[in-house]
Amino acid sequence: SCVVRFAPSPSGYLHIGGARTAIFNWLYARKHGGRFILRIEDTDATRSSEASVQGILDGLRWLGLDWDAGPFFQSRHLDDHRAAVERLLARGHAYRCFCAREALEAKREAARAAKQTYRYDGACRRLTADRIAALTAEGRAHVVRFKVPRGDGAVAFDDRVYGRVVKRLDDIEDFVLMRTNGQPLYVLANAVDDIRDGVTHVIRGQDGLANTPKQVLIYQALGASLPVFAHMSLTLDPQKAKISKRRHGEHVAIHYYREQGFLPWAMVNFLVLLGWATTDARELFTPQELVAAFDLEGIGRTNSVFHIQPDDPKFITDPKLLSINAHYLRSMPIAALRPHVKARLTAEGLWQADFDGARREWFDQTVDLIRARFHRLTDFATYGRAYFDDAYAMDPDAVARHLQQQPDAARWMPALADTLVGVEPFDAASVEAALRAFLGQWGIKPGQLVNGVRTAVTGQAVGPDLIQVLVCIGRERVVTRLRRAID
Ligand code: GLU
Repeated sequence: SCVVRFAPSPSGYLHIGGARTAIFNWLYARKHGGRFILRIEDTDATRSSEASVQGILDGLRWLGLDWDAGPFFQSRHLDDHRAAVERLLARGHAYRCFCAREALEAKREAARAAKQTYRYDGACRRLTADRIAALTAEGRAHVVRFKVPRGDGAVAFDDRVYGRVVKRLDDIEDFVLMRTNGQPLYVLANAVDDIRDGVTHVIRGQDGLANTPKQVLIYQALGASLPVFAHMSLTLDPQKAKISKRRHGEHVAIHYYREQGFLPWAMVNFLVLLGWATTDARELFTPQELVAAFDLEGIGRTNSVFHIQPDDPKFITDPKLLSINAHYLRSMPIAALRPHVKARLTAEGLWQADFDGARREWFDQTVDLIRARFHRLTDFATYGRAYFDDAYAMDPDAVARHLQQQPDAARWMPALADTLVGVEPFDAASVEAALRAFLGQWGIKPGQLVNGVRTAVTGQAVGPDLIQVLVCIGRERVVTRLRRAID
């Protein structure tokens, strides 16, 4: 059975790209009954933080991507990395390099000036044991480099997305495995951890591809069998720039979408479509359906586009993400949606204890009524505010058009309030009958009245069917709101 892993470097929040990598690995494991390992690659202490680790774990949990083992911390496995380096040294696949940093810099500068590509010249490849002992006795620091076989050969592997990848050995320099201070480099630590953990499938971003030939050399030198590699194409912004924290700030952070009222499964469903598709281009999947449909063959080589519009408040984000979110928001069972709405209303100070008690049925019906036009959970606290609280904003355009510029509204609203006071029971049938009678009595067409009433009781001209709105908001509040509509 397969073993996959998500191996983020904890240098920031969980972002769109990382989440997407995690999702692909998680799906692969769930589909094949394999194990999904979480490994925090924190060997670079200067770029790692505890807050970032927490953020990544929170993000994965929120998305519902449960892992089977870990989190393991790469920094706790230094012994394994050092043992691997010792083994490579002993077998002649690596060597100690005493070249001073300044000397290498000078050579690199010289190459640049001569417009040549710099590659470490292998000066230390042939140091004798005596010379090494002498340099060490002098206290000279050294790194350990991989001894790339020289000659006409090439290193090759089959990538499940990019096909056969061939890299000429001549184009690979003797890369560093371990720094002077004994810290392993990512290229080594990552491969050693994957070997130890028995990772069978390495599914990661295309930016990892540059390192893969070096890692294949490491695998071979350690006598380990190669995992399956599958590199995923990049996600770009509409300007075709790579999505990055540096460029896009929090607009690429998973927590941003959580705050903006996106549902976790909508997020997963959207992200999986960035670079993966079924042959029938299906777009909406339940978790079970997605696990069943997922395969590596569906991963494309074409870079995907995430339509971030940070500067346009109307386009809070990618229109497809918004429409997928709206789909789940409007169609998921109320029981499943309820905790999300509760959390959002609680955060906004709009939650009341009896929404879970005496008014539970009313609450669920209200959520069901108003969600039909909503895109995000935040809409419950903005457009939906009037249903949960008496302090709601009035849309100035709606007030102007349907109340102020309607000369008779000042007479209609209080009169309608007086009519509704006597409606018993206050249900859809009775309210509808009362409204019809009122229209007839005053000689008004529905279109002259309906939007004004909706504006008075909800703050907005658009919304669900008026009869349902009135019944939902309830007689007492409707009457009060109609009476104070014009002042
Ligand atoms: N720590 C690496 C990263 O975050 C992992 C790459 C890999 O999955 O091998 O880019």
